[in-house]
Amino acid sequence: MTQPALDLVIAALEKIRESSDRAPRASRTMLGRLRPANFAAVSLSAALELREGGRETSASPMPRRLQGALSKAQLLEPIRERVCACQKCAHLARSRTQTVFGVGNPDAELMFIGEAPGVDEDQQGDPFVGRAGHLLTKIIKAMNFAREDVYIANVLKCRPDTPSGTFGNRPPTPVEMQTCRPYLAEQIEIIQPKVLVALGAVAVEGLLGSRRTMRELRGQWHTYSGIPLMITYHPAYLLRNQAPSEKRKVWEDMLQVLERLDRPITERQRNYFL
Ligand code: URA
Repeated sequence: MTQPALDLVIAALEKIRESSDRAPRASRTMLGRLRPANFAAVSLSAALELREGGRETSASPMPRRLQGALSKAQLLEPIRERVCACQKCAHLARSRTQTVFGVGNPDAELMFIGEAPGVDEDQQGDPFVGRAGHLLTKIIKAMNFAREDVYIANVLKCRPDTPSGTFGNRPPTPVEMQTCRPYLAEQIEIIQPKVLVALGAVAVEGLLGSRRTMRELRGQWHTYSGIPLMITYHPAYLLRNQAPSEKRKVWEDMLQVLERLDRPITERQRNYFL
């Protein structure tokens, strides 16, 4: 099967998985037929619940043999390659300088999700390296993590295009997010962080497919694929709105994250932005 065809199969399986409480299934024989060499093994396994000899294996979506044999970094590599070559959104594939896959520790217990690369990320190939990124790095450091300890990725792997000669970035469209979301789903499936943090309403829409206001969403625990998900403001919002009260809201969300991760919190940390 060609890669674009396989991508379509994976996207369809992801959709079925999301819209029903029963995961789609395939026998190992069928999976073997779909999988020349190690071709997208992870994606397929992530999208399918495997059955061996008619007997269902554990709820784990990936065969144990595969899971144990490869590191998370190795498991991410074929996805990075597919993202790099992705042409699903022809307009974005044409306009991008490069794709922006994600960065950080594949074994991270904490993973941040943003919306899409901006102009700086498109040029440098890493997420959150512009102004908003510097603020995110400060937040991560204030939490007593190094940027390299956590994993950072976006819903979209390409910079949303803008008319030539214009400045600034545009938010991704719902269709672009729906098209790209399976890549993020696979990243999360492999990294299995203890906590996810979604930055801003667009990231939430990309991740959960739900359009709700930040007022309704932030500061509370949600779940994504069984993983606790904290929703907070995007750092770009904090750059636009410098009120200490807004910084404090984000910080309170991060304190909840630290508590959930059983990380020690100093008195000084507790009182930031008060
Ligand atoms: N904003 C995002 O959501 N992601 C980036 O990578 C940069 C800015």
